[in-house]
This record gives sequence, structure tokens and C-alpha cells, in this order.
Amino acid sequence: MIVVMNLDAGEENVEAVKERLHQMGYKTHPIYGTARIVIGAIGLEKSATPPTGLETMPGVEKVMRIMAPYKMVSREVKNEDSVIEVGGVRIGGNQLTVMAGPCAVESYDQIYKIAKGVSQSGAQVLRGGAFKPRSSPYSFQGLEEEGLKFMAEVRDELGMITVTETITPADVELVASYADIIQVGARNMQNYALLKEVGKCGKPVLLKRGFASTIEEWLMAAEYIVNEGNLQVILCERGIRTFETYTRNTLDISAIPLVKILSHLPVIVDPSHSAGDWRLVSPLANASVAAGADGALVEVHHTPNEALCDGAQSLTLENFDNMMQELNQIAKAVNRSMATSDNKCVEGKEKV
Ligand code: PEP
Ligand code: MN
Repeated sequence: MIVVMNLDAGEENVEAVKERLHQMGYKTHPIYGTARIVIGAIGLEKSATPPTGLETMPGVEKVMRIMAPYKMVSREVKNEDSVIEVGGVRIGGNQLTVMAGPCAVESYDQIYKIAKGVSQSGAQVLRGGAFKPRSSPYSFQGLEEEGLKFMAEVRDELGMITVTETITPADVELVASYADIIQVGARNMQNYALLKEVGKCGKPVLLKRGFASTIEEWLMAAEYIVNEGNLQVILCERGIRTFETYTRNTLDISAIPLVKILSHLPVIVDPSHSAGDWRLVSPLANASVAAGADGALVEVHHTPNEALCDGAQSLTLENFDNMMQELNQIAKAVNRSMATSDNKCVEGKEKV
């Protein structure tokens, strides 16, 4: 259920409505939009009593049921696109955000070289794995805390923000103490204990779609995070498993405009894990932006042949620069622009 209130309802009236809902057994999540204030009221059917008398409370415009199974992430709750602001970078809205970096942090020098290159080409967010969820226990598992430290040092030196993955609930606090955006990987999309923990960490979360998950399951996973009070969720389509073997996964382009209809959350695309082949990365990024994506998450390595992880799908710095130039053309064609380090937003109130 949502309670729609006037923008000028005043904090006292908003608090009074929240209090009334808490008494009825609902959890509340207020969203301050540009045209109205919406209080999402979520409760288990059995414990929550049906609402009475809310419509007549001061400042209340209307009370509505949310029909979608995911509630707070649904467009029914919020018509405007959510924009996540972190460290002066905006994700969502008219500008496209590109996140780039190696699959795994391998050394300080490696992450510095790559970060510098991608930043010069226009990436605002540095990606890199310190805890790697590998299919084989014998593959490189990541530098763990040392990797997080290297990323944070490079970020501070180059003025970027960082995104990195956490694979267990126990590590969320540690990862959140170094990184700006916490990534939940495809293999963990339905790890509900992890989703709840990142929901409590206070940092934006990049939620990848599981490679065998439906769009509804993906949005329900986002709802888990939001239900803990963290509305800063960025969705990331990274390809799903199909019968095709020439690509690592199949990028589900249709998921982009569809999720944009169903949800107000920003959606970015990872063409690297979708394709598994660097030659397909730029065309898939172009197609994603043309289909309405808010940005891309791309694997880049200064020497892909020597990468400890996912070299075959990693762009060289030169290829990444070319990709950015092409993406710029596509962005213009769909009336969007590429965010650059020069037009960082002023840190302000979260506009989710
Ligand atoms: C990654 O981005 O480092 C990663 C492991 O991706 P995914 O979870 O999509 O496989
Ligand atoms: Mn990878």
C-alpha cells in the first residue's frame, strides 16, 4: 500500500501518518519525489490490519494498493526515474554512467594503470573485484582486503568512485568501509541473507541479475534490499544462460526497456560478462544504451593476455577509449549524454 501526500504536507504530518501505519503493523519507507511524497507501507498480510482513516489525515491525497509483487521498487510507487548520487557521481537520469576496470584487482600498479586510463576516457566509476566468486576453487580468488585498500587508494588519487563485490554477509561491513558502491553478483542474487545485509549497510548497491533468474525474481531481490531501508539500488543486466554456446551468456536486451516500465530504479548493462568476448563488448554496450540503459559496467585490462581473470572479455585501454567514443554518438542519438568527471553533481539530498 502507498500513502500519497502533498509535497507541502509538512514533516509533522508525514510523521503522524508513519506513526499510524506503524501502529497498524506496517513498515514505512518515505520517498520524497519532486511532485509528491509517497509513503510506502509494507506489512505481512496477516500482521497488518486493513487501513482505516488514513485518507482523512492532514496532507494525505490518497491511499492506494500496489498490485505488483515487488512494492517499493515498482513504478506504481514512484513515477519518476530514481537517481542515485554517490561521491558526486549520478547514476540514472539523463546522463550515462560508465563503470570500468579489471575483473580482479591484481596489484596496486595494475589497478592504478587501468583506473587512470579508463578515467581519462570518461569512466567515472572504477570497478574491480577483491573477493572473486570463481566457478573453480582453484582459480584466483582475489586479494581480499588488500585489494579493497588498493582500490580505495587509487580512487582517492584519481577522484573516482568505486564499485566492488561482496560475496558473504560477514564481509559487507568491511567492503562498505572501503567501497562507494557494493556489488551483489549474479551468483548471489537470491542470497537473501546477503541482500538483507547490504540493505543495512547504508551504501548504494549494484544488483546483478542472476543468470537463471526471471525479471520478477530480480525485482523481488531488489525489494529485499529496499525493505531494509536502502533505496539506493542500481540494477545490472549481465546476460542470462541460454542454449547458445558461442557467447558466455545471452544479453537480454528486452529486459532493459521492460524493467524501465516496471521499476523506477536505474538500469545498467554489463556487456563483458554477457558476451565473454571483448569483440562483442562495444556493440552490446551501444545496443544497451539505444534500448534505454543508464550506463555500462565494462571489464578493462591494460594487458588482457596477462589478466588473472576474464582476459578474453576485457577491453584494452585503447579499445575502451574507442568504445566510449562510439557510445557518445549513440547517447546523442537517443537524447542522452555521457557523464564526465568534469560535470560531477554537487552532493545533495538523495533523490531516490
Ligand atoms: C563481476 O562483475 O566481477 C562478476 C563476477 O560478474 P557476474 O556476477 O555478473 O558473473
Ligand atoms: Mn569478470
